[in-house]
Amino acid sequence: MSGVKRVGIIGGGAAGLFTACQLKRLSGGKDIDITVIEKNSVPGKKLILTGHGRCNITNLKDPSVLKKGYHEAENFIYPALREFGPEDTIRFFEDELGLKTKEEENNRIFPECDSAVKVRDEILSYLSGTVKIVSGANVLGITKQSDFEVITAKGVYNFDVIVLSCGGSSFIKTGSSGDSYRFAGLMGHTIIPLRAALSPVRAAGYSLKFTSALSGVSVNAKISLYCNERITTSSEGEMLFAESGLTGPAVMELSREIPADISGENAYMELDLVPSMNDGQFEQEFLALIRDHADTKITTLISRYIPASAAYEITSLIDAEDLYAQGFTKENRKKLCRKVKHLKIVLDNVQDFDRAYVTRGGVSLKEIERKTMQSKIVSGLYITGEALDIDGISGGYNLQACMSEAYLAAKDILT
Ligand SMILES: Cc1cc2nc3c(=O)[nH]c(=O)nc-3n(C[C@H](O)[C@H](O)[C@H](O)COP(=O)(O)OP(=O)(O)OC[C@H]3O[C@@H](n4cnc5c(N)ncnc54)[C@H](O)[C@@H]3O)c2cc1C
Repeated sequence: MSGVKRVGIIGGGAAGLFTACQLKRLSGGKDIDITVIEKNSVPGKKLILTGHGRCNITNLKDPSVLKKGYHEAENFIYPALREFGPEDTIRFFEDELGLKTKEEENNRIFPECDSAVKVRDEILSYLSGTVKIVSGANVLGITKQSDFEVITAKGVYNFDVIVLSCGGSSFIKTGSSGDSYRFAGLMGHTIIPLRAALSPVRAAGYSLKFTSALSGVSVNAKISLYCNERITTSSEGEMLFAESGLTGPAVMELSREIPADISGENAYMELDLVPSMNDGQFEQEFLALIRDHADTKITTLISRYIPASAAYEITSLIDAEDLYAQGFTKENRKKLCRKVKHLKIVLDNVQDFDRAYVTRGGVSLKEIERKTMQSKIVSGLYITGEALDIDGISGGYNLQACMSEAYLAAKDILT
């Protein structure tokens, strides 16, 4: 290869656009020809939805702490986070894109403008003049002979190097329909089985009736995920009942642990709706309440702990919605306390990729150089973003991963 290096970036989402930005920043646009190929009419369709339209760009923690948010991939991603971490991302947004940032709860960083659309537009304007963006060009196939040949609906393109950043299989309507896995697989890469992560979960049977009756109600709960009668993992925090099941941060965090092949009653979430007390303390306190408020409805007493609508639905589960404290039997009290502290929500086993924020699984990290993002199987092929078997927790982790990986890939492409 001599003279100008032709770099093709396949997919104009966060990872692809960030890689283009880093290539421009590090090269100054010299001796390089950068093309982003995107199937949608405008790039960054998922990017503009991030952070509820406000774009949570990163999380300002030290990389040694931040890495723990990437589950099994923490050791793989650590060098990338150390080389280009949250502070570098903030500097890039402020100095290069001209977007001032601000810190919110739990170290989450947002642009001051609170607009993901503005983030996308500033990236596109930063790239204009240096990077060619071919949109509306669905990539149909990639082959490598002496160089890479990329076949699209708009024509064939040839590159010396390609960056595969077609995203995962989540939020499919934004364009990420799993093509990264298909292309990487055809080029010899192993694809770790996919699962919906950071996803709402669907409830089944009687549980669905319960959650839909409470649709929109938010509670603070401890949530334990049980698969095949064994507790798999748990979380604590805000969750919401929904028409189709459960959602909210504490629920979505657990979704990646639901096995793809689990069925029937074998997967459920157990909700502790009063996590500040253990079972014994709660029972004691509730007993005292019953004794002190004989003329009060049980539903009213329970609503001291949980929203009134949830209190009504829970007491209905033991047919106690019309009962008063006076005459409320010990058996009923035990049953009700158990429901409040151990409410079982049976899950439907559907992997909800349409609503998952990220995909767990993807290109095996064993086949990627962690200091460059280059494939160990195909030279000149770089893979970044959700295409890889990396999923972070919520709070800016996933965009930061795209940014750190983009930096390493760009740096290596330019050497
Ligand atoms: C609703 C929502 C909110 C989120 N909020 C946050 C947040 O605030 N902070 C955070 O860190 N993370 C957030 N995430 C996660 C984050 O958006 C993703 O991790 C990130 O966008 C992944 O980037 P990517 O470039 O790998 O994939 P994508 O952003 O999905 O981009 C892939 C691109 O490739 C294109 N493409 C696919 N196939 C082809 C093909 N065959 N030919 C050409 N182009 C193709 C797609 O059209 C798409 O534009 C959120 C996700 C969702 C769904």
